[in-house]
Order: sequence, then structure tokens, then C-alpha cells
Amino acid sequence: MEERYDLAVIGGGINGCGIARDAAGRGLKVHLCEMNDLASGTSSWSTKLVHGGLRYLEYYEFRLVREALIEREVLWRMAPHLVSPLRFVLPHHAGLRPAWLLRLGLFLYDHLGGRKLLPPTSVVDLARDPRGAPLKKGMFGKGFEYSDCRVDDTRLTVLNARDAADRGATIETRTRAVAAVRGADGWRVTLETRDGVRREIVARALVNAAGPWVSRVLGEAVKLETKSKVRLVQGSHIVVRKLYDHDRCYIFQNTDGRIVFAIPYLDDFTLIGTTDRDYSGDPAEVRATEEEISYLLDAAGAYFEAPIVRGDVVWSFSGVRPLYDDGAGEAKAATRDYVFELDTAVAGAPLLSIFGGKITTYRRLAEHALADLAPHLPGMGGAWTAKAGLPGGDFAVDGVRALAADLVARHPFLSTREAARLAGAYGTTAHAILGTATRREDLGRDFGAGLGEAEVRHLMTREWARTADDVLWRRSKLGLFMPKDAIPALEAFMAANAG
Ligand code: FAD
Repeated sequence: MEERYDLAVIGGGINGCGIARDAAGRGLKVHLCEMNDLASGTSSWSTKLVHGGLRYLEYYEFRLVREALIEREVLWRMAPHLVSPLRFVLPHHAGLRPAWLLRLGLFLYDHLGGRKLLPPTSVVDLARDPRGAPLKKGMFGKGFEYSDCRVDDTRLTVLNARDAADRGATIETRTRAVAAVRGADGWRVTLETRDGVRREIVARALVNAAGPWVSRVLGEAVKLETKSKVRLVQGSHIVVRKLYDHDRCYIFQNTDGRIVFAIPYLDDFTLIGTTDRDYSGDPAEVRATEEEISYLLDAAGAYFEAPIVRGDVVWSFSGVRPLYDDGAGEAKAATRDYVFELDTAVAGAPLLSIFGGKITTYRRLAEHALADLAPHLPGMGGAWTAKAGLPGGDFAVDGVRALAADLVARHPFLSTREAARLAGAYGTTAHAILGTATRREDLGRDFGAGLGEAEVRHLMTREWARTADDVLWRRSKLGLFMPKDAIPALEAFMAANAG
């Protein structure tokens, strides 16, 4: 019997998972295939900000900035476990952008739209205020502080997939779309699993959300030329030991006109990024280069009083932005907005390919994608995601601390830090993972770094985790804390319990 769907989505990054969720909630029968793990492409390697993008104002990207600014609070309400507000300190650097320009940009940022809960911009005296204390002595007087949000990019992706599945979508990871042929009855998509098993599904519409692979899918699987091109731009980050104690993030202007963030990360670290350079290799093979690491150390070192050296780098990661190629000269100037190509050569079997986009705007991107597909999929429901929480997100926007405290009260063996991690990762779903446990042993085997068997089982059965990497680097960042010699036991457990 033929396996038939309304919509097939290629790619389990934030955009594919966001579209699958939205479409499933509109009553469509959805299939999503991801050739590796969910969010294993670009969607794990971002700066992890839900932000308007202050610097995009310099490129007059008002549409994008306004949409992104509005999305900050929409996503915060949808997923208060994964999204939280962050204040950004922007030191005024004599010789770079003038103070009036920064003021103007921040005025627009505060007023372009959507800011109801986040506090507005304020001026900081960096010479006297503790927020200036970690910076080079005597170098900065005035600074500004403004609001954006941070997000767990990977978990946002996975929970979109979870919600899509809860609404009836079929999500298949480690499954690659190797061919797609348009027929009278829709798209015939050939899927191939890791062990080489192939099968065909049929869908009335196809979405190519393959991120950096969007052109490859078009060229190799669909065999279709499009006007739009993707521009692959590498961006790298370093994670260093914690550089300062307060909870603000810094946004530094570099002398090349770029900006670099220094963000408090996972209690013990500071995340510094990013770079912008054109990339022509295989997106799966991208790695932070020594040149990029030195660039980031120098950029942050120009601002912080305490020296930051290569030995402070505990981890680095790199991703490829799948930008829409708008012909801009420098990589940093290429638009961060998204563009769709809708191909309807044969009526009733559309192909929508996605170029560009941001984590921040994924939900709106999904709404726009479905609006474009609506004439081809008559009968689908209307937009619904703006007010619908993600799994575990059914609590108040400022409630994550209270949730963590509640976890400690119910499960007194948890440390405050462990409870905060579980509340921040799973929200109210943490109750289901912890069950009625009153002793650590009740959670089964302890793999180290606070990872228990109950959590691993949850990740395997509800979040498509198959390997230790999926658990340690994507569903969590416990890889930063777990000793290397503890990993084989986790691998063995997961292999033995794969279902
Ligand atoms: P991806 O996440 O790459 O997903 C595409 C998926 O398709 C991949 O998982 C891939 O395995 C799969 N795939 C490909 N071919 C096939 C096939 N044939 N069959 C099945 N599956 C296939 N955005 C923000 O909003 N805030 C930020 O702070 C931010 N910082 C960034 C910093 C950097 C350095 C980078 C690189 C990006 C940043 N972004 C940020 C942008 C954001 O991360 C990306 O726009 C977004 O993750 C792209 O998602 P995607 O779903 O389009 O692509």
C-alpha cells in the first residue's frame, strides 16, 4: 500500500521542524525526514540568541528586524523553559560608531515593535558601574544596555519535532531523501535509511528545508534549477572559562566593523562569537579554524581587562549559515532574511525551497511557508502557533526558577543546579522524567554529570536520541561536564536499549 502524505519536509533543522509542527497543527498529514540527527546541521551551532539583530539596522533590514523583535516575546511565551531574557551591554568605543548612531539604532530597536515585557534601553556609566568592571580599565566611559533573549537552539528544534509528532506528524531521523520525482498525484520521494533500506512515500507538496544543503537537494535529488542561490557563510564560536560574574552579555564592536558577543554560558563558561567567512566545503565537515579562534580571542581581548589565551578555550564549534545569496560583497553584509522559491510546474504538486532564515524567525517563516502552500493544499487550517506553547512550556514566562524550586521540593536529592538544568531543558516535562523518584537511585543508572537513566530513556523514546553525541551535545550540553571515560557506558546503554 502506498504511504501517502499531504506534505513531505526534507530537513530536521529549525525550519523543517517548525514547518512540520505548524502543518500538522493545521490538520495536514506530514512526513519529515532528517538525514542525521535533528538539529545536527546549522540549528545546533548558532549564537543561541532570539534577537532583533541590532546590526542589521545598518543594512536597512527593517522588515526582518521588526519581525524578529516581535518574535522575541512570542517565543519566550511559547517556551519559557528554552527562551529567557538577556541584557546586552554595548560599550561606546571612541573611534568606532558614534554615540548618536548607537542611540538612534537602540531607539529604533526599542520602538519597532513587539516589546511589552522586555525592559528598554538604558545608559550605563561603565567607569563606575559593576557592569564595566571586567572591561579594560580607563578605556570605556559610556555604554548602553538593551534587551534581547537567549535560546537553547537545539532543544527548540527538537521540541518543535516533538509537538509535530504529538499532532500526528511522522518524523524519521537518520533517513535521507535521495530522490524526489513529481508525478500527477504529487511528489514521489525516495527515502534511504542508514542501513541502505529504501522506500517511497507520496506527498501532495514538498518542502526543501535542507538549510546549507538546499541547493544540493535541488540538484541531486529533485534535479531542478532555481533562480535563488544559497551563500554558505561559516561562523565559529569559542567557549572559554567564565570571564566575569554578572549575568549580562557584552556586544563588542570590532575594528573591522563586525560585532562579537561574549555571553554567560552554562554557569561556568563564557561563549564568544562569531565569525563570518564564505565557505565552500561540505557543511557537515565545518570546523572552527585556528585563525578564527585567534580572531575571537583578539576581538574579546581588546575589551576585557584580564587576558584571554588559547589555553582558556575549552570548546569551539562552527556552523554554516545557509544565507540567501543577494549578491552582497562581504559575507557579513549578506542578508539574514529568508526567501522562498515556490515551484509549481505541474499544478497540485508544489515544491517550496527555503533560502536563509534565522532561529528567531523560524515560526513566522513556517507561517509564511504554509500561507504560500495553502492554495495547493485546500482545506488546511489557519495560523495557530503564535499562542500555542511547546511541550513543557505550560508555565509563566518568569516561572522557570519556581519550577526548579518545585523540582527540588519534590525530589530533594536534586541539587539546585541539577534542578535548574532540568527545568530549563524540559520545563514541566521534567515531572514526567523524574516521576515519583525520592532517591537518586530511583532514576536508574547514573552516567555522570547529573545524567540519569530516566532522562536518557526519555530522550530515546520521546526525542529521537540514538547516540551519546545526540544526548551530550544536542539534547543537552552535558558533554562539557562529563568525563570522556564515562561516555562508552552511555553509548553501550543506548545501543543495548535502541528500539
Ligand atoms: P539546518 O539546521 O542546517 O537544517 C537542515 C537539515 O537538513 C540538516 O539537519 C540536514 O542534515 C538536513 N538535510 C540536508 N539534506 C537532507 C536530505 N537529503 N535528506 C534529509 N535531510 C537532509 N539565528 C538566530 O536566530 N540567532 C542566532 O544567534 C544565530 N546565530 C548564528 C550563528 C552562526 C554561527 C550560524 C551559522 C547561524 C546562526 N543563526 C542564528 C542562524 C540559524 O542558526 C540558521 O538560520 C538556522 O539554524 C537554519 O536552520 P535550517 O533548518 O534552515 O537549517
